[in-house]
Amino acid sequence: MSIALAPYAACDASSRGRKYPEAAPAYRSEYQRDRDRIVHCGAFRRLEYKTQVFVNHEGDLFRTRLTHSIEVAQIGRSIARTLNLNEDLTEAIALAHDLGHTPFGHSGQDALNACMHDYGGFEHNLQSLRVVDVLEERYAEFPGLNLTFETREGILKHCSLKNATELGDVGRRFIDKTQPPLEAQVANLADEIAYNNHDVDDGLRSGLINVEQLCDVRLFGEQYAEVMRRHPDIPERVRIHEIVRRMINYLVVDLVENSRRLLGEAGAVSIDDVRNSNNALIGFSAPVRAESLELKRFLREQLYNHYRVRRMTRKAELIVSDLFGVFMDDPRILPPQYHDKVRATPDSKTACARVVADYIAGMTDRYAIREHKRLHDPSETT
Ligand code: MG
Repeated sequence: MSIALAPYAACDASSRGRKYPEAAPAYRSEYQRDRDRIVHCGAFRRLEYKTQVFVNHEGDLFRTRLTHSIEVAQIGRSIARTLNLNEDLTEAIALAHDLGHTPFGHSGQDALNACMHDYGGFEHNLQSLRVVDVLEERYAEFPGLNLTFETREGILKHCSLKNATELGDVGRRFIDKTQPPLEAQVANLADEIAYNNHDVDDGLRSGLINVEQLCDVRLFGEQYAEVMRRHPDIPERVRIHEIVRRMINYLVVDLVENSRRLLGEAGAVSIDDVRNSNNALIGFSAPVRAESLELKRFLREQLYNHYRVRRMTRKAELIVSDLFGVFMDDPRILPPQYHDKVRATPDSKTACARVVADYIAGMTDRYAIREHKRLHDPSETT
C-alpha cells in the first residue's frame, strides 16, 4: 500500500539531483536507488566488524556499527512512514550515516583526529560523505556512489564553517543556517534513540552497568515499574527487553506527536519551507528531551567511561596512532593500491596524511589489529 507523501516531504520531483546526471531508474525512486547503492558498497559490509561500544571480539551479541545502522534505519523508517515523509530517503541516510567511522568507535576517531591535527583533522561524519562521494570506486561513469543531493546533505549531520565552505553546495546550509529536509532530521534523532537504547541493553548484558543504577534514570525507571507491575515473574533478559522496547516506543511516540505539532505550528507546506524554517521541525517535547539527555549522561558516566571500556579505548588509540605514524614515516609500506594516490601528491605531506587516514579509517577492528601485528612482528609474513 503506498501512502501519499506530505507536501513538505522530499520527493523525486523536488530533488536537487545527482552531481553526475543519470537517467531516472526504471522501477525505483531516486532515493531507493541511493539506498540500494549504499547496501551494495564495500564500506557498508565493513560496518559488520566495526565497534559501536564493545569491540567486535568481546562477544557475538553486542551491537556492531552494522546492526546499529540497521536499527537506526528501522526506527527512522517507522517515524518517516507515520509522518508521511519519504521512507526511502530516511533509510538511505540511516544506512550511510556511519560509513566513515574508524575502527574502534569514537576512540579510533579521536586518535585519528589527533594524528591529523596538522593536516586538516579527521571527522567521521565528514568521512561518511567522503566515502560515498570519493572513496567507493565501483562505477565506470563516476567516482563514489553519485548519490542524490538530499542523501548527501543528510549524511553530513554537522560540519565546521571551514569545511562547509570547502564542500560547496552540500555544506551551504551550515553557512546559511538553514535546515536539512525532515527525512535527515528524522534519521538524526533515530540515531540517538537507537544508540541510547541499545547501549542500555548491551551495557546490562556486559555487566558493566546494572538495573538498580538504571532505575534512578527516569526513562528507564518508569518503564521498569510498568513492566514489574504487568509481568512481575518474567526472566531477567525478557524483562530487560520489555523495558528497552517500551523505552523506544515511548521516545518514538513523543517524537511523532511533538513533530506533528511543530509542523502544524510552522505551517510548512513545501520542502523549501522546511529548509528555511528557523528551527528543526522534528524533535522531542521538552520533558522527553530532558529524559533522553539524562539517560545519555548516565551512559557517558557509567558505561563509556567504565574502566574496562576505557582500557579497550586506550589500546585502540595506541593502535591507530601507531599505524598512522608508521605509514607517515614510510608511505611505501602502504598496500600497493595506495601507492598511486601517494605518488600523485609527492610534495604534499598533507595529501599523503589524507591517504593514510583514508586507509586507517576504512579498516575494521580486526583488520587494524592484524595490520598492527604484521607491521611489528618480524615473524609475521607481510
Ligand atoms: Mg550512529
